[in-house]
Amino acid sequence: EFAEVSIKDIDQVAKSSFPLCMRHLFEKLREDHHLKHGGRMQLGLFLKGVGLKLDDALAFWKAEFSQKVGAERFDKEYAYSIRHNYGREGKRTDYTPYSCQKIISSNPGVGDHHGCPYRHFSEENLKAALSKMGVNSGALENVMDKVRNRHYQLACTLTFESIHGSSNDAGINHPNQYFSDSHEIFK
Ligand code: SF4
Repeated sequence: EFAEVSIKDIDQVAKSSFPLCMRHLFEKLREDHHLKHGGRMQLGLFLKGVGLKLDDALAFWKAEFSQKVGAERFDKEYAYSIRHNYGREGKRTDYTPYSCQKIISSNPGVGDHHGCPYRHFSEENLKAALSKMGVNSGALENVMDKVRNRHYQLACTLTFESIHGSSNDAGINHPNQYFSDSHEIFK
C-alpha cells in the first residue's frame, strides 16, 4: 500500500508514474473532458487503487465532465457509477482495478480510449506515445520487437526500465503494480 494521492498531485504523478494505458486515458480525459464507459471503468478503478479517495474521485471527474455535459448532468448520470465503483451503491461490491491481462484482452471500439496501447495502438501511434514518454530510440526498438511478438507486458516492462533507468525483475502484470514500483523509485 502507498500513501494516498490527492488531486493537486495527480497531473505530476500521472506524468511520472502512470503506465501508458492510464496516461493515455488521463490525457484524453483532460483533453476531451469526457471518456466513454470502458475508459471510465479502467481509469476510475486504477485511480481508486492508486489511493484516490471517493470524494476526490468525484471532484476530479466532475471537474472534467461538467465542462462537457454540465454539473447537473454529471450528478445525475455519472456520479452514481463512481460511487458504485467504490462500493457505495448497488450490491456494494468493492470493485478491484483491472489487471493487464483483462485490459489486453478488452475490445475497444471507435471513440474508446481504454485497452492496452501495446496491443491496441497502431505501430505509428505507439512509437509516438513512447517517444513522448521519454523512451530513447535504442529502447524503442526493443519495445517494438516485443510488441511484434505479442509480448505486450514485456514491452511495458522494457518501457518501465527505460524511463526509470532501473530494472524491473518481476515484470509488469498490473497497472497498479507499475504505479507502485515507479512510486518506490521516485519517492
Ligand atoms: Fe497498461 Fe499492462 Fe498494457 Fe502496461 S501492459 S500499458 S500496465 S495494460
